Parts: sequence; C-alpha cells; structure tokens
Amino acid sequence: ENWPKVHGDITFKNVSFAYKDGQKVLDNFTLDIKAGETIALVGETGSGKSTIVNLACRFYEPTEGEILIDGVNYKERSIGWLQANLGYVLQSPHLFSGTIKDNIRYGRLEATDEEIVEAAKLVDAHDFIMKMDKAYDTEVGEGGGMLSTGEKQLISFARAIVANPSIFVLDEATSSIDTQTERIIQKAIDKVLQGRTSFVIAHRLSTIVSADRILVIKNGKVLEQGNHESL
Ligand code: ATP
Ligand code: MG
Repeated sequence: ENWPKVHGDITFKNVSFAYKDGQKVLDNFTLDIKAGETIALVGETGSGKSTIVNLACRFYEPTEGEILIDGVNYKERSIGWLQANLGYVLQSPHLFSGTIKDNIRYGRLEATDEEIVEAAKLVDAHDFIMKMDKAYDTEVGEGGGMLSTGEKQLISFARAIVANPSIFVLDEATSSIDTQTERIIQKAIDKVLQGRTSFVIAHRLSTIVSADRILVIKNGKVLEQGNHESL
C-alpha cells in the first residue's frame, strides 16, 4: 500500500500521559518540532525521555492532549501510515527471526539486494555481515539472538536507511558499548539523521552537540532548551 509521504512536522499539544495505573509521567507537555529538525533529549534517568519518544512512535497514545504530525492528530490516521514514515532504533533493538537481509528489508519489500548492501555499507555493518556464515542470508535467530546489541543496532540503522522515513527516532541505551562499536554507531547516526525530523536520546556528547535543539527533561517537563552553545 502507498501511504502519503509525511513532511515531518511534529507537535505535542498539551500532552499528558500516565502508564496504566501509574501517576502522570507527562503533564501538559507541549513541543513544536519543524520538519528536518534534530531534537536531542537529555535528562536524568526516569525523567520521561523514552516516554516522549514512545508517544511519538505511537507505541502509546496520549491520555490527554494530542500529537500532530504535519498538523493532523495521528489518531486520525492508520498505524500503517506512521509506520511507513517513521523509523526507529530503540534501547533494545528488536530483530525478528529470519535472515539479515530480511531484517534490513523489513517493511519495504520492494527494496533490492543492492539497496540493502548499500545501506549496510553506509552504517558500516557490511564487514561484520560478510564475516558471517552465510553473509546476508545468515539467520539471526529468535529476536536476533545470534548478534550482539551493537550489531543489532547497526542492522536497525541499515533498516532505517532502506526505509527512508521522514521521521527518525533513536533511543539509545546507556549500556556498555565498546569504543569501537561506539565510533561505528556514531557514523551510522550521522548518516541516518541527515534530512529528517529526528528525536535522539543519546549519551555521547558528539550526537547531542550536533542537534539543532537540546531539551533538558526533568519530571516530564522541558526544564531548559537551547543548542550546545547556549546551554
Ligand atoms: P532512562 O534515562 O533511564 O532511559 P527515561 O528518561 O527514558 O529514563 P522513562 O522511561 O520515560 O524515563 O520513564 C519515565 C517514568 O515512567 C519513570 O518513572 C518510569 O518508571 C515510568 N515508566 C517507564 N516505562 C514504564 C512502563 N512501561 N510502565 C510503567 N511505568 C513506566
Ligand atoms: Mg529511556
């Protein structure tokens, strides 16, 4: 199915949100993001960063208020429409059992093998893939069990490149990624963010520094915002 292409403006309009039976994590949260902007969210653990991006991805919906994409409440659109226009790499990247190739192609069935290899090269996943038993035809096992977290993240980045979404979300784990993987992932991040509306929760300073706007989140609110120089 061909979903209309999203431009990429995102608005959180007086959004409140509580997880089931819990207290409000976001209370009257408002945020306007222009298409193409990169927004970095920083703040202490539990401040609500992942909650904000999970709402943007519509893994959850606001309890009150609304989230508009290109000016339209996303609840008025199908889930498929958002899925076709939004790519994400989350703290625990999820792969499905199938081959590396299937996992990168995910959702864009018309993508050619050449496009898949090109995307993997862009994010520096090609070399480790070629070292595997059957290269791109290697089965990754249930949930990607055969791969390290860093490798799964790179596959997810390659997937995002192939999908070419207007909106990209990165919710990066604080977890221990070794320095080399870290350097590689930084390259992937730079490639994926170009020309998209992006929400990044990152821990490395270089990613945060290059954001158009940095929001400091505390208790579900924007405590401060600015760019790297002003903060
Ligand atoms: P971190 O830096 O540790 O990833 P965060 O800023 O991403 O933290 P959130 O994960 O958004 O924080 O959590 C905000 C609040 O919501 C916390 O109090 C957390 O315990 C709670 N919370 C998060 N996910 C759930 C969930 N699935 N069910 C219930 N409560 C949750
Ligand atoms: Mg989080």
